Amino acid sequence: MVLIEDILKNARNRHIPVMLDEGMEFLLKYIKENNICNILEIGSAVGYSAIRFALLKDNIKVTSIEINEELHHEALANVTSFGLGDRINLILGDALKIEVDGNYDLIFIDAAKSQYINFFEKYKNYLTPNGVIVTDNLSFHGLVENPTLTHNRNTRQLVRKIAKYIDFLKENKEFETTFYHKGDGISISRRIAK
Ligand code: SAH
Ligand code: MG
Repeated sequence: MVLIEDILKNARNRHIPVMLDEGMEFLLKYIKENNICNILEIGSAVGYSAIRFALLKDNIKVTSIEINEELHHEALANVTSFGLGDRINLILGDALKIEVDGNYDLIFIDAAKSQYINFFEKYKNYLTPNGVIVTDNLSFHGLVENPTLTHNRNTRQLVRKIAKYIDFLKENKEFETTFYHKGDGISISRRIAK
């Protein structure tokens, strides 16, 4: 039998950026309190977060997109071992290229940080009327708040991209966003009622 703790430990040992515990607890609480049923996740990795969401309640359905074929297959195996194949739909592909079906109460952006604005602009069209977009890793290990700590060029570029995404959310006329210092930094954006 596979335990969720083993999936988590194994992923962390391999430096796969699965959600931090504090962020996960925060998001699970949000999903529960707001009766979220249909979730779309961008970035499945090994399926850890998708499984945690689905285990919350029997009426929760998760669609999750992953670009990396190996990780996608690992996620499939993990989901199957939890008997959740009927409630977690794993899609292999680039979230910016593929088309998904349906509308979602919660869309969780947890993939390439350089593409956050593009993910947001594409997937806002898949929200239910009261749906929200949740984004992870807005703090990026604290580097977004303290960019001078970044010496690596690629990291610096990513930090700049995340800062740009945060500005994009703050200035957005269509969505109102709340930022939470939970885990690695999480935001929740909801459409402003007209
Ligand atoms: N949500 C997972 C962690 C995801 S890590 C958890 O908490 O358990 C981020 C994942 O996003 C990586 O596996 C990466 O391969 C994937 N990814 C990056 N860019 C993507 C894209 N354009 N489309 C789909 N997946 C992407
Ligand atoms: Mg993350």
